[in-house]
Amino acid sequence: MQRQLSDEDRAFQQEMRTFFTTVAPQDIRDANAAGGEPDPDVIRRAQRLLNEHGLAVPHWPVEYGGKQWTELQHHIYRTEMQQANFPTPLPFNVSMIGPVLATFGSKELKDRFLPATANLDIWWCQGFSEPDAGSDLAGLRTTAVREGDEYVVNGQKTWTTLGQHADWIFALVRTDPNAPKKQMGISMLLIKMDSPGLTLRPIKLIDGGHEVNEVFFDNVRVPADQLVGEENKGWDYAKFLLGNERVGVAPVGSIKRKLADAKAFAAQTKRADGTLLDDPLLAARIAELETDLMALELTVMRVAGGSKDGKPDPASSILKLRGSQLQQDVLELVADIAGAAGLSWTANDDVPAWAASATPTYLNFRKASIYGGSNEVQRSIISGGILGLKG
Ligand SMILES: Cc1cc2nc3c(=O)[nH]c(=O)nc-3n(C[C@H](O)[C@H](O)[C@H](O)COP(=O)(O)OP(=O)(O)OC[C@H]3O[C@@H](n4cnc5c(N)ncnc54)[C@H](O)[C@@H]3O)c2cc1C
Repeated sequence: MQRQLSDEDRAFQQEMRTFFTTVAPQDIRDANAAGGEPDPDVIRRAQRLLNEHGLAVPHWPVEYGGKQWTELQHHIYRTEMQQANFPTPLPFNVSMIGPVLATFGSKELKDRFLPATANLDIWWCQGFSEPDAGSDLAGLRTTAVREGDEYVVNGQKTWTTLGQHADWIFALVRTDPNAPKKQMGISMLLIKMDSPGLTLRPIKLIDGGHEVNEVFFDNVRVPADQLVGEENKGWDYAKFLLGNERVGVAPVGSIKRKLADAKAFAAQTKRADGTLLDDPLLAARIAELETDLMALELTVMRVAGGSKDGKPDPASSILKLRGSQLQQDVLELVADIAGAAGLSWTANDDVPAWAASATPTYLNFRKASIYGGSNEVQRSIISGGILGLKG
């Protein structure tokens, strides 16, 4: 079990810390710290800066910009980035379609898409979920019928994050409705978002923001050379992608940062006899969260330190579960500290910006226990795959 960093890893941590706190521009970090709807220009600038310094896609193969880091170094890189409030590279590009293309794509697809994907010259979105296919993803019904050199796509995707900024969508489609198992009739297609017949409709969220969308396909014609890998093998690629999605799912750096912010906010909130930070009940709650966070970080380091072959560890389900719970607990703490000021939703002379954004942020992050595989589904994986219990 690895609890302390070696000298080499400590030096690596210092290198990352220096980069994210001195080379990374302050305005990008401030924009990210402010929260709210992500600004696509800020996200593009951030990812291009990382790419320029060889830091956008460290887990890709070396020939496409990857680094031969250990899992622990990847964890340190992510944590330092999050603690410095630097925006994470677009996950749809760097953690999802990039590794899929690098592993299963033809040479032509790799050369065509990987450099532009790393540099965010192409913005991807993920077209997996459908109205009746979320946890049960293999039940998806969007069809793609081969006609000559094209596929004709019909159906609907939903919850498509940041699809309004996307240039391309990687979509799971049903190419063989008669396959003996539903998983065996699925393919992955790369589709341009401005294709005739493709329309996008925003879904308004409880925090008032526009982060997710519905995407409709009405006889959308897709060149057959935009098929990833082999026809009807899309389920294998999707499983690979979802496994990667859960690696690094516990945003330890972001949670640490938010908890430190919470303490600072409590210290700014005056009471008759001092500040809110002097309240013993609040102090106990903060101490409990700090202890839980330390336990999570040690577990992340243990899992990362023990993963030698670079494959996702099944324990990533535990990290996803605890990481999302702690993230939600800390945001609830911030909303409680804001108190009545958190009802305002807009900053003014009496309500600081952090208090105004506390409630919408708390509400927005209810999503963390749903996406990337809901927490109920993670519990099933833990009980069956790790504890060996039968459902
Ligand atoms: C903010 C947000 C962004 C998203 N972005 C994207 C995106 O960009 N692209 C994309 O393709 N998808 C995206 N998703 C979709 C996400 O992957 C699904 O919401 C998720 O897989 C759950 O599916 P569902 O919403 O259909 O819920 P359902 O699968 O219908 O589940 C409903 C409830 O039943 C529970 N449940 C379901 N099956 C089981 C089971 N076997 N055992 C125990 N409990 C179960 C679930 O935990 C949940 O509480 C996003 C979702 C959210 C909330």
